[in-house]
Amino acid sequence: MSAAAVAVDCPEQGYRQAVRDWIAGNFPRTWMPDRADYAAPVFAEQIAWERSLYEAGFAGFTWPRDYGGQGQTLVEQLVANEELGRVGLPDSLNGIGKDMIGPVILAVGTEAQKVRYLRNILTMRDIWCQGFSESEAGSDLAAVRTRATESGEGWIITGSKIWTSFAQHADLCLVLARTGDPALRHASLSMFIVPMDAPGITVRQIDQINGRANFCEVVFDDVRVDTDAVLGGVNQGWAGAGRVLEVERAINRMYRASLFENELRHLVAACRSDPRLSVLLDEPAYLDRLGACYSDIEVLRRLVRRTVLSLTRGGAINGEGSIIKLHWSEAHQRIAVLAREMLAQASRPLSTVTKRAIERFDELYLRSRAETIQAGASAVQLGIIAQRILKLPKT
Ligand SMILES: Cc1cc2nc3c(=O)[nH]c(=O)nc-3n(C[C@H](O)[C@H](O)[C@H](O)COP(=O)(O)OP(=O)(O)OC[C@H]3O[C@@H](n4cnc5c(N)ncnc54)[C@H](O)[C@@H]3O)c2cc1C
Repeated sequence: MSAAAVAVDCPEQGYRQAVRDWIAGNFPRTWMPDRADYAAPVFAEQIAWERSLYEAGFAGFTWPRDYGGQGQTLVEQLVANEELGRVGLPDSLNGIGKDMIGPVILAVGTEAQKVRYLRNILTMRDIWCQGFSESEAGSDLAAVRTRATESGEGWIITGSKIWTSFAQHADLCLVLARTGDPALRHASLSMFIVPMDAPGITVRQIDQINGRANFCEVVFDDVRVDTDAVLGGVNQGWAGAGRVLEVERAINRMYRASLFENELRHLVAACRSDPRLSVLLDEPAYLDRLGACYSDIEVLRRLVRRTVLSLTRGGAINGEGSIIKLHWSEAHQRIAVLAREMLAQASRPLSTVTKRAIERFDELYLRSRAETIQAGASAVQLGIIAQRILKLPKT
């Protein structure tokens, strides 16, 4: 694809400028992670910020207006995300709802489900979590053991999920459960919309190495849901779950390339500010690695733009999502490793600038270790690329 074809800037320049102006007037300066006076938003501030993003037209871009969406295209979504990434916006508390579950409800939900759930995702009234993975069913999702059994007026769900991000805040969970013979694997799975305050649900937060506890174990002990909790049909869960994961790998968080550039520029600025670190910026080995990181970012930007343009022309994601997922997660680790290595050589005592950079990249280093696992491990993405794109046999 030519450079001109991926340059979405041209026709959308006015829109891009409008987004930029809005961000300049509304994004709190102290939330910019490259500032020495950075202070992360607290929960209530984050909810209010995401609500204001929606009110300004920066959520639900492609969702129909009837369900609270903006009725726009993926190109507006991409442009707005690129601009938001430039300032280092905080991760959404409801990214799972906005980027993954909403699109699945739109694709396979009933009319009543669309009316009931979609607008509430965008307004942050309902926060969602994704209850797919289990201790023996992560990469091999078809091995899910959580079971849903039909009872007179609905279903009873029993089992447990692990690594359920944001379950501690969530109002609703999309649960993948077994509704038939386990030997049928993919063909006996269904998706259920489960309120997190239903009797029988226990949420246990898992302490992470970075001091946070953003994901959880969720136990379902005979949890009752109505028949209309099924999303996409009984025993039809695999196709819907596959769609969630495909979107997750390809086009969620379209701001990543801009955010990674924000990180790389932060690293360079921190180095320039410090007498010992600025010397490193003259060393060919570091220049090579900084240049390689920038190339990684540019490749990511172009991959995402290419996928967005293909989708707006009616194309499918297919194995492309795995290429993007593999690339961004591996590239992010390279940025984090390089940053930590350089910043470790900062002059002592640390200045406020280098101290802040070290805090940011220490956190990033730990977070990025999980990125090659979440949404499907790198080895799994390689397998998908080999099979779907190179058409090689399954081993
Ligand atoms: C930060 C984070 C957030 C997450 N959030 C959620 C969430 O909100 N909801 C949710 O449902 N899940 C979530 N997960 C779970 C995630 O989807 C799984 O961790 C992931 O699919 C890998 O599964 P696993 O951890 O069971 O590892 P396993 O499946 O046990 O795999 C272990 C390793 O074995 C190798 N491997 C496994 N299978 C293959 C194969 N076929 N070919 C080659 N190598 C293979 C891989 O290298 C892999 O790293 C999250 C995970 C993380 C790290």
